[in-house]
Amino acid sequence: MSESRQFCPRCGDPVESGATVAATDGRAPICEDCYFENFDLVDAPDRIEVLVCATCGAIQRGKRWVDVDARDYTDVAIDEVAEALTIHVDAEEFEWRVEPEQVDETTVRMHCLLSASVHDRPIETRATVPVKIGHGTCTRCGRVAGEYYASTVQVRACGRTPTNHETERAIAIITEYVAEREADGDRDAFVTELDETADGVDAKLSTTQVGRAVADRIVRQLGGTVDESATLVTEDEDGDEVYRVTYAVHLPEFTPGDVIDPDDADPVLVRSVQGNLKGVHVTTGAPYEAAFEDGEAPDARRLGDRGDAEETTLVAVEDSRAVQVLDPETYEAKTIPRPDYLDSDADTVWVLKSRAGLHILPADDETAATDETD
Ligand SMILES: [Zn+2]
Ligand SMILES: [Zn+2]
Repeated sequence: MSESRQFCPRCGDPVESGATVAATDGRAPICEDCYFENFDLVDAPDRIEVLVCATCGAIQRGKRWVDVDARDYTDVAIDEVAEALTIHVDAEEFEWRVEPEQVDETTVRMHCLLSASVHDRPIETRATVPVKIGHGTCTRCGRVAGEYYASTVQVRACGRTPTNHETERAIAIITEYVAEREADGDRDAFVTELDETADGVDAKLSTTQVGRAVADRIVRQLGGTVDESATLVTEDEDGDEVYRVTYAVHLPEFTPGDVIDPDDADPVLVRSVQGNLKGVHVTTGAPYEAAFEDGEAPDARRLGDRGDAEETTLVAVEDSRAVQVLDPETYEAKTIPRPDYLDSDADTVWVLKSRAGLHILPADDETAATDETD
């Protein structure tokens, strides 16, 4: 039996079968001595320059700015060196230690001790990488400082001014949404301006995405509709047109707690304006829902709201459809419709006096709890 002999293609030495290692470029296997002669455990850059945003501490990587959870520049330098080191594919159990040497205020020399096991042989090597820290301004901080905005959200109400509750909710929705985006690492989301005006709420926001999202959320919580309009403001460096988009939120004419008269006969206490308007007839207690095509704005006149109601004496229950109460203005006993939500044992009831007459409102505070929609 003839023993097959192999020779290292680089040095020509005979090699025992099985004692060769494949050259990483895919050529014929070479002997271990040749392999380790040219072996570099890591490929490290000669120096690293890091641009740090002086305002927020973000670091530029390529074209992007990224937030790093760094306490100081040494931390930043360690992170950047770790990012920049390329470890040989054959290395196993790779470990490294680093001793930062502060050279001056903006330069840290990183002395690295690197070790690994390569083909069961322990390898240890040292590398020194100087890291230079530069200061700049990231895109976000530059835009914030320049009061940049790409969308406007205007919150108004149809035929009235928004209530305090609506104004507070709109402001909270905007600030909470942007805070969520920021917490998710979205560096493009910020509020440039947020004002409460006599007409409602005006916000200038960093992107159209943020503008659209908060307008949709406001409508989902408070009802109403959104109109969108775009204005050409400039061209960007590539010659593309840049638009600023205005989202005009129109809150519904009526709000929960309003008493309205949709058909001039049977007043309704409004309970919800999300989707189409829903409420309860104050004459019978029967539920009311606006026709789908009327949505949240049925053709109706407003008679008043819960805040206008007054407590008065329940004089007598006449029958299943009528009760007697004292008119809160004249103190005359009056016979009025009896809604089924009336507690007939009560001594007093809440009534609303309007052009449509005197009506008993539900005693429960359901519609006054306007936070129910949150
Ligand atoms: Zn060899
Ligand atoms: Zn910044």
